Amino acid sequence: MSIDTTKVTPSTSFTASFAELGLITPLLARLSELEYLQPTPIQAQAIPSVLAGRDLIAGANTGSGKTATFALPLLQKLRADISSGSKSSKGNFVSGLILVPTRELAKQVADSIKSYAVHFNGEIKTVAVFGGVSINTQMLALRGGTDILVATPGRLLDLISSNAIKLDKVKTLVLDEADRMLSLGFTEEITALLALMPTKKQILLFSATFPEQVKTLTQELLNNPIEIQLQSSDASTLVQRVFTVNKGEKTALLEHLIKLHQWRQVLIFVNAKHHCEHLAEKLSKRGITAEVFHGDKGQSERSRVLDGFKAGDIDVLIATDIAARGLDIEKLPVVINFNLPRSPSDYMHRIGRSGRAGEVGLALSLIDHEDYHHFSVIEKKNKIRLDREQIEGFEVDEITEDSILAIEKPMAAPEGTGKKKRKKKAAVNADIWSGYSKPE
Ligand code: AMP
Repeated sequence: MSIDTTKVTPSTSFTASFAELGLITPLLARLSELEYLQPTPIQAQAIPSVLAGRDLIAGANTGSGKTATFALPLLQKLRADISSGSKSSKGNFVSGLILVPTRELAKQVADSIKSYAVHFNGEIKTVAVFGGVSINTQMLALRGGTDILVATPGRLLDLISSNAIKLDKVKTLVLDEADRMLSLGFTEEITALLALMPTKKQILLFSATFPEQVKTLTQELLNNPIEIQLQSSDASTLVQRVFTVNKGEKTALLEHLIKLHQWRQVLIFVNAKHHCEHLAEKLSKRGITAEVFHGDKGQSERSRVLDGFKAGDIDVLIATDIAARGLDIEKLPVVINFNLPRSPSDYMHRIGRSGRAGEVGLALSLIDHEDYHHFSVIEKKNKIRLDREQIEGFEVDEITEDSILAIEKPMAAPEGTGKKKRKKKAAVNADIWSGYSKPE
């Protein structure tokens, strides 16, 4: 297939209304009820092309309104199919397929679609399927055909082998969080699923980041796609800050920040499942109750914790990157990187949990000497540059030759991290800090 990519120039001054984008009355009525006063930039630029049947590659920040960008045209086209009698989702077929990387995202996307479709009087059936829960209930839900199916790849393959669903009549395929869907771990499943779908279909790819493997796939799969790349400035309500701290004092700094600011909903990212429990224990000893969220938890526990956090009943949630993708937690004020993510794109996904849809958000990274180099790489790849700040009482030790070495060679062990050697504010004066702002 050809790739004659049409580039759409982003325009933040675009002020078209949802009606001007060509959406029909039942959708417009719902958007007004939801108080979506105006399309977000990605919606304004993509919806007309998606309605016209074009393939799409959309690089937009998380929280930019991606779900409605694919869901609204999908619903409108299904409505037209129903009116013209050409609905393809009878029997155990599906018409619109949305593939997502996590269970929580599957549920969240399906809930959004159901919400957008309330004025279709139950004409359009949306089902979410994902692992970790009984397959039988999902098989029952799929009976009689499904208009829109939101699925994680593994469970979808299981349902296909049980003959609960067929992909032969998929008209539109959406890959949400496409970079994750096309990364190692999902490749085999995605390839197997693609082989079961018709060649002629509309494909919509959404992701905050577009690494090489996604670009290659778009060339192989997509037909003359519209390409929209929104700049990070389109989500400028998120403030990013980075605090330097001595190794061994991170937990104390975290405690200090949570208590000082009395944060009520704070999402803390660590790099391993056991680190979640470990940090929760350490915080508990310091009088802060935290819950944990990671892949070893059962589905009911994951749902309980996430619902509690979303409802504001849980103040502090410690999670692995499983929580970094697509989760929409309304007005989440603070995200903290206790450990830096390994990949620079995961940094963007993590911080994108806050500052969504124009809300003010704060993304903090706590870095010790061993993180300096890696954080610079994250900044470079994401084209950001942040001032290194220090918090009073947690100033980093004097910069020694060894710690400078640690900045250049990330794994070199810093010397002089003991409290005795600390010289207050010495780091601020060292050359290495020139150009960075002082702590507040
Ligand atoms: P998403 O990027 O799809 O996860 O959307 C992030 C959040 O923005 C969700 O809470 C949506 O309900 C909300 N949202 C999406 N589009 C709009 C809009 N045009 N106006 C206001 N809120 C929106």
